[in-house]
Amino acid sequence: MEEIAYGCAGVKAAILTSNIGQTPVIIAGNEQQQKKYLGRLIEEPLVAAYCVTEPGAGSDVAGIKTKAEKKGDEWILNGQKMWITNGGVANWYFVLARTNPDPKCPASKAFTGFIVEREWAGVNPGRKEQNMGQRASDTRGITFEDVKIPKENVLIGEGAGFKIAMGAFDKTRPPVAAGATGLAQRALHEATKYSLERKAFGVPIARHQAVAFILADMAIGVETARLAWQRAAWMVDHGQKNTVMASVAKCHASEIANKAASDAVQVFGGNGFNTEYPVEKLMRDAKIYQIYEGTSQIQRLIISREILTAATQTN
Ligand SMILES: Cc1cc2nc3c(=O)[nH]c(=O)nc-3n(C[C@H](O)[C@H](O)[C@H](O)COP(=O)(O)OP(=O)(O)OC[C@H]3O[C@@H](n4cnc5c(N)ncnc54)[C@H](O)[C@@H]3O)c2cc1C
Repeated sequence: MEEIAYGCAGVKAAILTSNIGQTPVIIAGNEQQQKKYLGRLIEEPLVAAYCVTEPGAGSDVAGIKTKAEKKGDEWILNGQKMWITNGGVANWYFVLARTNPDPKCPASKAFTGFIVEREWAGVNPGRKEQNMGQRASDTRGITFEDVKIPKENVLIGEGAGFKIAMGAFDKTRPPVAAGATGLAQRALHEATKYSLERKAFGVPIARHQAVAFILADMAIGVETARLAWQRAAWMVDHGQKNTVMASVAKCHASEIANKAASDAVQVFGGNGFNTEYPVEKLMRDAKIYQIYEGTSQIQRLIISREILTAATQTN
């Protein structure tokens, strides 16, 4: 992910988001579901998508309004999702819907996770959104209108959806952080190269310590962001709970990417502001890292909640 994002963070988003769509099926799917839906992604060049966000609710996942009602052996899905990466090109979607209409029902029981096929009647992706950056990635709203879902496509069971949707993030945030690190690394390489070529006051600008120190700060950022995502990913591989580290890595790497991209534009001077040079794209691509897969504010909310809960339990 780091290497792909070094080349283009938008292409990385398109590839990684298929993995994000698959993760609920990897962690919560039964054998038939995994064979059918993960299997086809290996057999053919197809991708999946993760549909949770809606026009009215992103950070506050428990506020989503898409609903599914049980009718015999089927569920009937109605609602609208927003900002779905791969929305127009996915073969199937992981969809989170409310299945208990009682507002007093806790989030841990009110939602169910479904696998929904793109070709089913009533599944309607909207237009490709025109975003600031990562434009190679396809982002759309999707409307679900009386979509019939067979009961075989429920993940785990009724009411298990919220935990599945949130649990996926521990696995998917480290590779998102890796992508942000790749973008920061690219910014450092471009700025370093340019600083040796561009001359001001008779010397390459790299010879001005104020410029060289910008490069040093970028390197500090890249190295610490890389260590953070690698630790968060290592914890997944070793079966350790990594909720805090996944959020630390995602929050840190996305902030490093934004600083590195902005600093690279600074090193390029006026040229940095122009589309003929590579760094303005990096700056546009960087911003979304602080928003998707949980905003930086939400990462801090998770980190603080986890450390305070752990401290309360020890006291
Ligand atoms: C290009 C793109 C691709 C995306 N891909 C997907 C996808 O594939 N699947 C999917 O389901 N979603 C996707 N999203 C949605 C993305 O995850 C949400 O946009 C994000 O979670 C924020 O939700 P929101 O936009 O509703 O902002 P809001 O939740 O309305 O937040 C607005 C602001 O308020 C802050 N805020 C909200 N609550 C709190 C709080 N409790 N404390 C402090 N600050 C708070 C936020 O940090 C933010 O700064 C994508 C979005 C974009 C733009």
